[in-house]
Amino acid sequence: KAGAAEVRLGMTAERKARQIIAVGSGKGGVGKSTLSANLAVAMARLGRKVGLVDADIYGPSQPRLLSTEGRRPEAEGNKMIPVPSPYGVPMLSMGHLVEPGQAIAWRGPMAGKALEQLIDAHWGETEIIVVDLPPGTGDVQLSMLAKHKPAGAVIVSTPQDLALMDATRAIGLFEQAKVPLVGMVENMAGYICPHCGEESDPFGNGGAEAAARTMGLPFLGRIPLDLSIRQDSDAGNPPAAGDGPQAEAFASIARGVLA
Ligand code: ADP
Repeated sequence: KAGAAEVRLGMTAERKARQIIAVGSGKGGVGKSTLSANLAVAMARLGRKVGLVDADIYGPSQPRLLSTEGRRPEAEGNKMIPVPSPYGVPMLSMGHLVEPGQAIAWRGPMAGKALEQLIDAHWGETEIIVVDLPPGTGDVQLSMLAKHKPAGAVIVSTPQDLALMDATRAIGLFEQAKVPLVGMVENMAGYICPHCGEESDPFGNGGAEAAARTMGLPFLGRIPLDLSIRQDSDAGNPPAAGDGPQAEAFASIARGVLA
């Protein structure tokens, strides 16, 4: 009996030491998954033991982004063992449990249970788990935040007014769940033309930074709209793992989150 208590205490200590960083957005398509993957990779490059949970259970994209598509997590006891990715970031995604492209149409409670298993896995020495939340501000998000109490949340927005209004709703979600806001990232700000290199602003520029300032949130950095980000992401090569200018942009955001 004493032995079992020790094991439990050990696990509690392990869980206490581990922190969850949630990445959220008010709506889909703003680059939340891209940021989550690259933030995790950038933190790992900075020497932290980082894991990634793809909580976007209705549209999991992390296996593609970190080249673990088709992999199945092993289990020990009744818990999953995270899948190692080539970028030093162990990870778990619903995408690892269903066939690629298979639609996942679950009701809230089941979705919540599935997410539970991804977070409550054998994370071993992992110190920080980056959680790519589903877009929006529904029940799955709220119950996850209430249950796992992330140490902090990062909000992603594009510079468009509409996306920013959605971001404001996401901020409300984290405040309601009493999750401290680490800051805001502006994605798809400034378009670098692949032909002439000229920079333009299809979605405006600086909107998220101004909004962050108005709301008293730290501004963590800006990622331009860059064709190479989409191409590399689709090919399973996270830009944060490379040596281009985007790797430094993600590293700078990672340093801001860790500070
Ligand atoms: P979300 O998780 O918010 O739905 P994703 O991260 O899946 O958004 O991004 C949506 C699409 O936009 C993906 O095809 C992704 O590769 C692309 N994308 C994201 N950020 C950028 C960027 N800064 N430049 C170019 N393409 C991007």
